[in-house]
Amino acid sequence: MDTILVVNAGSSSVKFQVFSVDGRGALERQIKGQVDGVGTRPRMRAADAGGGVIADRSYPAEQALDVSSALGIAGTWLREEQRIAPVAVGHRVVHGGPDYDGPVLLDGAVVSRLDRLSPLAPLHQPHNLAPIRSIMANFPDLPQVACFDTAFHRSHGALADHYAIPFGLYAEGIRRYGFHGLSYEYIATELQKVAPGIADGRVVVAHLGSGASMCALRKGRSVDSTMGFTALDGLTMGTRPGQIDPGVILHLQTAKGMSAADVQNFLYRECGLKGLSGISNDMRDLVTSDDPHAILAVEHFVHRAALNVAMLAGALQGLDALVFTAGIGENSAHIRARIADKLGWLGAGVDAKENARHATEISTPDSRIPIYVVPTDEERMIARHTVAMLANAPPSLG
Ligand code: ADP
Repeated sequence: MDTILVVNAGSSSVKFQVFSVDGRGALERQIKGQVDGVGTRPRMRAADAGGGVIADRSYPAEQALDVSSALGIAGTWLREEQRIAPVAVGHRVVHGGPDYDGPVLLDGAVVSRLDRLSPLAPLHQPHNLAPIRSIMANFPDLPQVACFDTAFHRSHGALADHYAIPFGLYAEGIRRYGFHGLSYEYIATELQKVAPGIADGRVVVAHLGSGASMCALRKGRSVDSTMGFTALDGLTMGTRPGQIDPGVILHLQTAKGMSAADVQNFLYRECGLKGLSGISNDMRDLVTSDDPHAILAVEHFVHRAALNVAMLAGALQGLDALVFTAGIGENSAHIRARIADKLGWLGAGVDAKENARHATEISTPDSRIPIYVVPTDEERMIARHTVAMLANAPPSLG
């Protein structure tokens, strides 16, 4: 049976998954793993399809100084010990720029083109591209596919895509790209299975993880989202502030003397739940704390989430369903209930029992807005795209 390797490379870790694919294109996850502590204390962990640990190894820092060599460790293990020889590799690449509205088969020219987008996502794009280059050098005949976080949002109309800034800057690429697109695309396909009645309607999907955003779907296509030029905008996140007056940034630079690099670090790492609470960026620590700052951080997250649902309902001119997904959205009944409570004025109601057991549909029978919990699976979406690219066909629902 053929296998597909899916790679999600970050600055200090690389996550990988192996899917088997049968003759009809149906995918089954075989291995899920990651190498973290890149450059410091590299450690590879992997689990089989049933979640059983099949590897947990530490390496000297020199063996994984960067993400490419970290992926090399995983690749050698997969080839030599697991006897996996993938027919293709699918990569998560954060930025596809203005042009890519779907995945692309990679070659040297495409990689150079994607590299020119690195200034738009300096913390992610170079790390996404490095393993692509090293696989290309070592296995030149192995097809590689890039799947972008931005691509699904390229269906946005002009009003959702523009900032109110001089038009020339739009042409230069300063646009509201939106992110988490692979997650939203997966959810759009899942809705066809779990809630076909609303899959073609007006749906707000709340991807609430350590990075958090929302997407307005109409007929399964993205019409607007809360993130924009970068993944900083929109909702309160684990360590990012979400929506913030640009005047605050100017103040930090002019009155407090922060450099651009200081501000970047501040916005990506010191704000959000972490900054507000002063305790943690992890929602699990905050919902169980009675510290007033933790309570404020949770309230802020809930408040901003509820406001943004209403904003996107405005973009959709109505709301047929609300879907929760990602770490917080899938696992925190408390946060889902709190957000839904704030949407009571829209007629939203959550069934406490169904919510507590993380049922697929958690709304009360008389809720005017059906509310769902749908686990996301960005890696499976990448695997689907990779298989489809090999077959030259649209992605399946497998
Ligand atoms: P990302 O992919 O953006 O790193 P995830 O979607 O994996 O994030 O979500 C991770 C976050 O989910 C954690 O930081 C944690 O705050 C939150 N989370 C996971 N489980 C729970 C839970 N049971 N209650 C509250 N928050 C949770």
